[in-house]
Amino acid sequence: MALLIQNGEIVTADSRYFADIFVEDETITRIGSNLELPPGTEVVDARGCLICPGFINPHVHIYLPFMATFAKDTHETASIAALMGGTTTFIEMCCPSRLDHALDSYYLWKEKAHNHSACDYAFHMGVTRWNDETESQLRRIVADGTSSFKVFLAYKNFFGIEDTELFQTLRLGKEMGVITAAHCENAEIVSRLQTYLLSVGKTGPEWHEPSRPETVEAAGTHRFAAFVELTKAQGYVVHLSCAPALEEAARAKQRGVRLAIESVLPHFLLDNSLTEQPGVEAMKYVMSPPLRDRRNHRSLWNGLRSGIIDTVGTDHCPFDLAQKGLGELAFTDIPNGIPGIEERVSLMYTRGVVTGQIDIHRFVDALSTRAAKLFGLFPRKGTIAPGSDADLVVFDPTYRGIISVKTQHTQNDYNAFEEFGVKGRASVVTVRGKVQVRDGVFVGDRFRGRFLAREPIGDTHGE
Ligand SMILES: [Zn+2]
Repeated sequence: MALLIQNGEIVTADSRYFADIFVEDETITRIGSNLELPPGTEVVDARGCLICPGFINPHVHIYLPFMATFAKDTHETASIAALMGGTTTFIEMCCPSRLDHALDSYYLWKEKAHNHSACDYAFHMGVTRWNDETESQLRRIVADGTSSFKVFLAYKNFFGIEDTELFQTLRLGKEMGVITAAHCENAEIVSRLQTYLLSVGKTGPEWHEPSRPETVEAAGTHRFAAFVELTKAQGYVVHLSCAPALEEAARAKQRGVRLAIESVLPHFLLDNSLTEQPGVEAMKYVMSPPLRDRRNHRSLWNGLRSGIIDTVGTDHCPFDLAQKGLGELAFTDIPNGIPGIEERVSLMYTRGVVTGQIDIHRFVDALSTRAAKLFGLFPRKGTIAPGSDADLVVFDPTYRGIISVKTQHTQNDYNAFEEFGVKGRASVVTVRGKVQVRDGVFVGDRFRGRFLAREPIGDTHGE
């Protein structure tokens, strides 16, 4: 099976030019003009459009038992939503609780996704405790192709780990060349602030942010950076939400700590005033770290433009209104999460590229290439070159639309970006050479997605 995408303008993290792309089987084999076509070649006309490498979302939750309930998506619904938005690969957090067995959990997550995803996928392995078995289990998981860890400096007694466990995880990561991602807050302080706020009757969703303030995230980021520095490991801060945390992370980077930074869609576009609305309306917007005061938006956009913020993910995590309502009496019972797997590319293009906050190359870099490089997928994913997987997005910058729960593919009964306008969308999307989305409609194979085994990419030299 051969595919030609013609008349489009190719845009990568560092180049922009007009050329046609020829795909054989699953791989890009030629890029140029007047390419010779075998009979039966499928042709996609990309006139007037940009052709970007398939977008990569480095931070999503799909299967997730959390806060006494389960996130709403299946791999089928989330992967179709991802593809509709131009995302051809996601990296899901495998999140066992502290009581769970790491290897069993890993196989459970893998089984949930296996033959159930329309796009390609990988995992970050959550390390939520460290005991005698942990090291050998993690070695097996890395050998299986899951070469990134995730730790939580938050969620006391559930996902959260102790200092010694963090240290051991980073030491193993360093030895194996595996990058460790971290949710940076401080479980102890958050727990005490929550208890205090509830005890004085501050129980509504507007108290979620004050229970995990910017200072706590900055402190968590500082602590993680110090551990990464001392172990000479490679770290990745997930969903950095505010200026004080960014300052901590940037300082660490400047002194040579190998720390990459991710921010997520909601923190660029939404703010904590949304949690001051009545009833469940406010609960829709509860995630952690929380939505912040909007004065932080400028810092995040500046950080993204300069590249200090490396990647843009989503922390996609859908809970419906009935689930959100579990927190009616106490904000600490609201399941944390805001979905966004489908909206990330269009909204970051609309609010970032169209407005001139970031250029098109930084956009492609932050939403695709940089994640591919950090997580061992490059150049198979994250670029357009002969030999790369033919994951391609024909992006139509002239499209105009409005986001609505009525048209979304994520399995949920609200959309946090309801009525946001978009300028531009993925109109044709391929996964390893197969057209999965055409004219904004899913037309493909619901179970085409494959697990991506990744080699560790880190420097394993030195102490
Ligand atoms: Zn997350």
